[in-house]
Amino acid sequence: MNLLFVASECAPFVKTGGLADVIGAVPKALASEGADVRVLIPAYPALAELIANGKTVAEFGDLFGGPARIAAVEAEGLQMLLLDAPHLYDRPGSIYLGPNGQDWPDNDVRFAALSYAGAQIATEGIEGWTPDVVNAHDWQAGLVPAYLRQQGGRTPPVVMTIHNIAFQGLFDATRLAALGLQAELFTPHGIEYFGKIGFLKAGLALSEKITTVSPTYAAELLTPEFGMGLDGLLRGRQADLIGILNGIDLDAWDPGTDDALVANYSARSLKAKAKNKAEIEARFGLTPGDGPLFCVVSRLTSQKGLDMLLECLPGLVGHGGRLALLGSGEPELERAFIDASNRYAGAVGTIIGYDEEMSHLLQGGSDAILIPSRFEPCGLTQLYGLRYGTLPVVARTGGLADTVIDANEAALLAHCATGVQFAPVTATMLGHAIARTCALFAQPKVWAAMMRRAMRHPVGWDLSAAAYLDVYKSALER
Ligand code: ADP
Repeated sequence: MNLLFVASECAPFVKTGGLADVIGAVPKALASEGADVRVLIPAYPALAELIANGKTVAEFGDLFGGPARIAAVEAEGLQMLLLDAPHLYDRPGSIYLGPNGQDWPDNDVRFAALSYAGAQIATEGIEGWTPDVVNAHDWQAGLVPAYLRQQGGRTPPVVMTIHNIAFQGLFDATRLAALGLQAELFTPHGIEYFGKIGFLKAGLALSEKITTVSPTYAAELLTPEFGMGLDGLLRGRQADLIGILNGIDLDAWDPGTDDALVANYSARSLKAKAKNKAEIEARFGLTPGDGPLFCVVSRLTSQKGLDMLLECLPGLVGHGGRLALLGSGEPELERAFIDASNRYAGAVGTIIGYDEEMSHLLQGGSDAILIPSRFEPCGLTQLYGLRYGTLPVVARTGGLADTVIDANEAALLAHCATGVQFAPVTATMLGHAIARTCALFAQPKVWAAMMRRAMRHPVGWDLSAAAYLDVYKSALER
C-alpha cells in the first residue's frame, strides 16, 4: 500500500512536540508491514542539510505567493518529501511563531500551501508513485480533503488524524479567496466553523476516516468537555472515528543504548540508573536524598496541569521527594517554577528550555515522571517513562488512562501495576498520588518489581501499525 503522510513536523528533523515523534516513527512501523510511506513536511531552515541532498521531484511556479518545489530525500529510514517554499518557511525561530511569540500572521497560507501540495501529490503522484491513501495530521494538514474535493475526479481517500483537538486552525472567512478555497465549500458540512474557516474542521468533515491517538481520547472527544466545539461533528461521525494508541521509537528510546545517558542499563541492571540520577542532581542543583526523584518534561501550558503541581510542592518536598523540571511555555508558569526552585533550593530544580538530550537523561535517572494533564490525547513521556523504569504518575485521562496501570491494592496483588493514576484531575488528588508514590518508593522491593514490569510493558508500534493499516484498508473500501 502506498501512503502519503502530510504533517507540519517530523522527528528527528524538526520537533516541537509529540506529533513529530509520531510522524517520525509510524512510517517505519508501517514500512515493516510492507507499506511504502512518503512523508510531506515543510522545508524549514532546520532542514537545510536535508534539502541540499534532495532531488527536485515537483515544481510550482507560484504556490501562494512564490515559487516552490518538492525535494525528495531518504534519511533516518524515512522517505521525506520536503516542500521547499522559501517565501513561506525560510524564517528564523519557531516553526509556528514569529519573534514576538505570536503565530506567524500568514500561518493560514503557510499550512494551506502544505495541504495544497499534499493534494497535488495525491492526484498527480511523484515520478510514477501515487498514494492509495493520504493520512493528514492535525490542523496544518486539514485542508487536504478540501483541495481534493475542489480538484474533483478520482482522488485517493483521506484519513484525518487528530493529535490534539485544542489546536484547530481557525481563520477569518475573508481569507477564503487568498487560500484558494471555493465558496461552495464554505458550509457547516464543509470548511465552515461558526463563521470562520476551520482547517481541522474541514479535515474532519471531508475525510473518509478519522483517527486519534488513544481509545480513551476517542471516547472523550465525543463529549462537550473534551471535544472543544467539534464534539457534535464527531458524534455524527462516530462510526468513522477510531482511537489508535501511539507507540514510541524503540531505537531512539532505549536505556540500554541511549547516548544521552551517563550510564546505560536494563531491567537486569537497574542500579546503574543511580549514575544518571547523580548527573541530574548535579545539573539541576539538587541535594542527594532518600526520597524519590520526580521529573517533568513538558510544554508549560494549562493543558499539562502543572499549575496543580505548584500547589503540591510543599507536600512533595515534605514527603522527602525532589523534583527536576525541564520545560518551556507560558511565562507565568516558567517564572513560578524558577521561584519554586529558589524557595525549595536543593529539592526543586528547574531548567527552562527545550533540550532533547536532557529529556533523555531525566528519563534515565529519575524515579518517577509526573504528568498531571487536564487532557492528554495520548502522551509520550509516560511511555518513555515505562521503558526507562521511571514510573509514570499520571492523570486518568486520554492516553494516560490507556497506558499506565495504577498501583492500587488489586493491581499490586495481581503484580501488574506500572505506575500511579489519579482522578478527578485536581491538585488535591495529585497531592494524594504524590504521597502514594512516596509510600511505594519507601518499599524498595515493591518499587523495583514495578520498575521491571514497566520496562517490559509493550510500548512499540507493532499493534498500532496493524491498526492503522486496517483503517487505511477500510478507507479504500469506501
Ligand atoms: P505534547 O505533544 O502535547 O507536547 P507529548 O507527551 O505527546 O506532549 O509529547 C511531548 C514530546 O516533546 C516528548 O517527546 C517530550 O519528551 C518532548 N518534550 C516536551 N518538552 C520538552 C523539553 N522542554 N525539552 C525536550 N523535550 C521536550
